[in-house]
Amino acid sequence: MSFTLHGLGVSSGIAIGRAMLMSHATIEVSHLTIAPRMVDKEVARLDAAIAVVRRELEVMKESTSNAPAELGAFIDIHSMFLKDPELVVKPQDLIRERRCNAEWALVQQMEHLVEQFEQFDDPYLRERKFDVVQVVERVIKELTGHVGRTLAKTARGVKEEMLIVVAHDLSPADVIAFKDHRFASFITDVGGSTSHTAIVARSLAIPAVVGLENARALIRDGEQLIVDGRRGVIIVNPDHRVLEEYQFRKNQIELEKSKLKRLKTAKSETIDGVEVKLYANIELPGDVPGALEAGAEGIGLFRTEFLFLDRGDMPDEREQYEAYKKVVKGMGGRPVTIRTFDLGNDKDIHPTVSLGDRVKANPALGRRAIRMSLAEPQMFQTQLRAILRATKYGPIKLLIPMLAHAHEIDQTLAAVEQAKSSLRGEKLVFDEKTEVGGMIEIPAAALAIGLFLRRLDFLSIGTNDLIQYTLAIDRTDEQVANLYDPLHPAVLMLLAHTMASAEKVGIPVSVCGEMAGDPKLTRLLLGMGLRIFSMHPSQILQVKSRVLKADVNELAPTVRRMLRLDEPGKLREALEKLNA
Ligand code: PEP
Ligand code: MG
Repeated sequence: MSFTLHGLGVSSGIAIGRAMLMSHATIEVSHLTIAPRMVDKEVARLDAAIAVVRRELEVMKESTSNAPAELGAFIDIHSMFLKDPELVVKPQDLIRERRCNAEWALVQQMEHLVEQFEQFDDPYLRERKFDVVQVVERVIKELTGHVGRTLAKTARGVKEEMLIVVAHDLSPADVIAFKDHRFASFITDVGGSTSHTAIVARSLAIPAVVGLENARALIRDGEQLIVDGRRGVIIVNPDHRVLEEYQFRKNQIELEKSKLKRLKTAKSETIDGVEVKLYANIELPGDVPGALEAGAEGIGLFRTEFLFLDRGDMPDEREQYEAYKKVVKGMGGRPVTIRTFDLGNDKDIHPTVSLGDRVKANPALGRRAIRMSLAEPQMFQTQLRAILRATKYGPIKLLIPMLAHAHEIDQTLAAVEQAKSSLRGEKLVFDEKTEVGGMIEIPAAALAIGLFLRRLDFLSIGTNDLIQYTLAIDRTDEQVANLYDPLHPAVLMLLAHTMASAEKVGIPVSVCGEMAGDPKLTRLLLGMGLRIFSMHPSQILQVKSRVLKADVNELAPTVRRMLRLDEPGKLREALEKLNA
């Protein structure tokens, strides 16, 4: 039966493929049927692996007696799970009853437990599902020698490029893991358009739709799907006419894309000769080739927190240094803006990493980003030292997220100075003149912009959070996604005020939020005075095509008039005219 679902299109394009339902768990193992005479052996194999992991945990507990209490607590929880018949005995029953291999039996039982934990109202208890998954990962590692971390069970005989991942929810870390895959698209029941999950989807340049509410319940594995990422529409089991129509549209889009590639080497300037910098936003060092391929003139935002999402530890100075060095060397002398960790919101770290008490309610308003870095001085110093050390390989700027207060800027600058002085003490080379800039993503920062202009070398406007905080809209919540409006007069006022104030004192300002990559807003931003845009590589050429056709001398007065409008309907009309 054919039917249609509607959600929020967060990454445009059309995908046609087969549904692959993602299980709650993130562990893939082989599914084998074992011979009856092997059953006892398989049970013994599982028992032995569990015993080894139990012993490992005991040793770990003894050797970390001085470690923070959280570490001891999580070891205790893992040990407890490994004694629980639910995890120890039930898989044995599955091996005996269904003759499945030990790994598969364990993962089936884990999925069952994860589902049960998800039912809890208490967030603490709900989070314990991560412990179940981790403990099972440990046992799987013992059984197979590696952790089978892939995202889903891949249907046999179907190429990855033809698969559409259907999930209830995906974390930014899940979507980051997609970078190693070539899925056609993904769709989820929950999520907002500027959630980090959606942002990473755009960086993958695959169509994606979120906020479908119950797609995972309605769609079955292997069903044919059409995903229209622009309109936010999913067509399940389309008939042949619909399929043909979408195949045609898909080909058109691909043709457009290949035409755009011709612009890669074109100089990015307007008709009236104003140079406009088009930079890339990246999440991982592996994104650099894609940025260069799209013609990025630099990296305007490296979201470093993605370096260690979903792993059990923090990267040390050496590992971070290697990552930053790889990016700066890869960019071959083009500027690279590295943002310090923005953790604590929807990009949460693995539950085993202890970073003080993590905020549970309203994390976007909690100890997030620079607040977390200042509260964890050791972590901050490690990162600052690693970034500064990488400056010897090319031009790096340091960008600080979520600043609101003068004292936060002052403390940050003092921390940078401290990192520099420790490097000097160790005779390690770095660029003494490394510029430090701040993200403008809290309305207070935009309104009290003088504080920032007096203390910092450059500014970068994070429109995703600026809109979230100005309009009080949780950017990850699909239920209020309709209220998330980049064209709200208040948002435009804050943007215009920031740009005009920075221009007056000659401080460079860029936009690195999603607004910068939306070609419908290019002319508006140019007219406001923006000259540095940073976006996903996949959006650069489209934005460039708009820049090449713009005349800022003409745009500026029109946009000034537009900014006086405070009726949303009129603003929208004016934008349409501006783009006509
Ligand atoms: C923003 O808030 O606009 C931004 C660029 O940062 P992030 O999306 O990582 O929060
Ligand atoms: Mg932000």
